[in-house]
Amino acid sequence: MTGNGEAVQTRRARQYALCTFALAYDKATDGAEGVFDQALTNGLAAIVAHTWPGKEKDRKTGRILQARLLLDVIKENTGGTGRIPHDPDAPIADDAEAGGPFGFLRTYTDVDLVTLHDALTVTQAIRHARDVEGDDAGMPLTEDHLKALTALDWHPALRSINDVHVDRDWERDGHSNDVEIDRARRYHDALDEEEIERRRDLDYEAMVLVTKDDIGTTVDDCPVCGAIAFVAREHDGLRGAVGIGHCWVCSYERTAYVAERELISDLLRRAAE
Ligand SMILES: [Zn+2]
Repeated sequence: MTGNGEAVQTRRARQYALCTFALAYDKATDGAEGVFDQALTNGLAAIVAHTWPGKEKDRKTGRILQARLLLDVIKENTGGTGRIPHDPDAPIADDAEAGGPFGFLRTYTDVDLVTLHDALTVTQAIRHARDVEGDDAGMPLTEDHLKALTALDWHPALRSINDVHVDRDWERDGHSNDVEIDRARRYHDALDEEEIERRRDLDYEAMVLVTKDDIGTTVDDCPVCGAIAFVAREHDGLRGAVGIGHCWVCSYERTAYVAERELISDLLRRAAE
């Protein structure tokens, strides 16, 4: 496969994963039928191009086939079973050798032709109804439809849903830290001036480093209120550079996830400069 072909395959896998994730994990319902079609078309195109290069396209126009036609290609080339070998040149091993139906050593992916065909029929009916009536018909897809879509990810041309999970967790950690910063600011603003002064003037290093014989603890500037009061009893697991703990003035808490995230963002920023 050419370099460009690989880029196309990577883009298909990413599109498949983003759309499938939105439906199966984020439980998206707005425009679900369009998202499903996009997920399925990209997923099937990647699998067909990997297994039978060229058959993902219309012979005359060179355009990528619609999902329904891609299912037909798979049906024709697998004798109607939908069982696709991961290596087109190697034989399919049985389940037991592959470590069971969900083993990573498995040598094939089963495409549930009937269920996916049914899903396309359902979503197209909804799309048609919406065009006619102009209202939102809700989520037309069943758990079985989504399961059949998600199962395509076993194929080595895809295997991309997990990457989306990691990206989304990353976004969520960032979001929850923003919420925590806001909470700590409100708490800080609720304290009266005298109390803030009293807390800022305390010598936290002396308190935690001298009295508790604890060599790992550090006291740093708080990113929220600026006091030298961020007491970290632990640090990120990668470099030990970012503290995990609490500010003893404003109560801001930095979790282990946020600490690692900040370290990695910092490394990326430095690498870019
Ligand atoms: Zn603080």
